[in-house]
Amino acid sequence: MSLQHDRLTRIHTAANQLIFAGKTTAELAAIAGQTPCYIYDRQLITARIEHLRKMLPKALKLHYAIKANPMPAVVQHIGSQVDGLDVASHKELLTALATGKAPTQISCAGPAKSEKELLAAITSGVIINVESETELQRIEAISHQFGKKAKIAFRVNPAFELKSSGMKMAGGPKQFGIDSEQLPEILTNLDLNRIELHGLHIFSGSQNLNTDALIETHQKTFELAAELAQASRVPFQHINIGGGFGIPYFPGEQALDLAPIAENLNVLMDSRSESIQNSEIVIELGRYIVGEAGIYLCEVTDKKISRGQTFLMTNGGLHHHLSNSGNFGQVIRKNYPVMIANRHLSDELEKVEIVGPLCTPLDIVGAKLELPKAEIGDHIVVFQSGAYGATASPQQFLSQPDLVEIMI
Ligand SMILES: *Cc1c(COP(=O)(O)O)cnc(C)c1O
Repeated sequence: MSLQHDRLTRIHTAANQLIFAGKTTAELAAIAGQTPCYIYDRQLITARIEHLRKMLPKALKLHYAIKANPMPAVVQHIGSQVDGLDVASHKELLTALATGKAPTQISCAGPAKSEKELLAAITSGVIINVESETELQRIEAISHQFGKKAKIAFRVNPAFELKSSGMKMAGGPKQFGIDSEQLPEILTNLDLNRIELHGLHIFSGSQNLNTDALIETHQKTFELAAELAQASRVPFQHINIGGGFGIPYFPGEQALDLAPIAENLNVLMDSRSESIQNSEIVIELGRYIVGEAGIYLCEVTDKKISRGQTFLMTNGGLHHHLSNSGNFGQVIRKNYPVMIANRHLSDELEKVEIVGPLCTPLDIVGAKLELPKAEIGDHIVVFQSGAYGATASPQQFLSQPDLVEIMI
């Protein structure tokens, strides 16, 4: 078994080879024109969205948070299957608009939006998630100046947090959103001649694999939304309750069990208090939709032994895949699932360190792995790489050759 994490049971092989998106890695590299490359499988993305639709309440709207993977082809593919797109920059806004999605199905977040971004958002008619009082004033001024009413939702920083998240983005003092206790007054004083209030955005955290924590946060989020709706002079058309569904990256992590989460959401949707009964409820997911649908592929370029340790050198690394190197928010580095793609069945194993081409000891592809004995030219695959890969990595660092991303 060349696969380090046997929980990746969906992996297909033929002969001694990994088959991804119906192809061997040699074929994928030939299509991409090179290694290193990222490959995204459109069928896996579709299957994931279908699974979500099947499991989650029918009335719940599903949005894709583009920052997880903003490749235009990926966004187009996902955009045709979800109810909306969430963007967090001007460039992401343009990517979302280019899919043809209706502007009111696009929302724009970000804790320090520029005037240019606000103007683009207002003019294109997307929903702006307002993150501060100053931002609200800027939006009102731009709306007035250009004679176009902005469509807004308030991003709320709740007093609670999403426990056991890979990244907490709410609770306590935060740069995101407006503290929930400040909102009733802002809602009361809102000048509805200048702006259209559409709803709320309550995003608490990311990369969560804890069902109980997600359920608890959903309950608190519905309660908070109902409370804020009472303070609003207009009903909320939509309430974005965030997402945070995680995927298993590391040994010992289990895939999220959606059934209890969905069951709880069903109850919350059906027993909503009057103030939010007619609001659309939206969930926004990034990595859960694309993370498992992508691999990173690089090639062994050298093999050497240093004082008893075997190193596989590769042409890819941290500059393309920062999160896999352990330098994107991890406290203790752990290995993503890694495989020698062309030696699946080999049972001659070897302890190796897999490292990239950068002149820094941080450039780790996989550490302390026991894998089939590899040779120069072999293909290294890193799984769970469809989200926070190419665009979350310092591609210019050390001026290595460009990366290629393909979707098939
Ligand atoms: C990052 C982010 C997401 C996506 O998080 P995932 O872990 O990829 O699902 C969604 N909403 C907001 C506001 C974000 O900042």
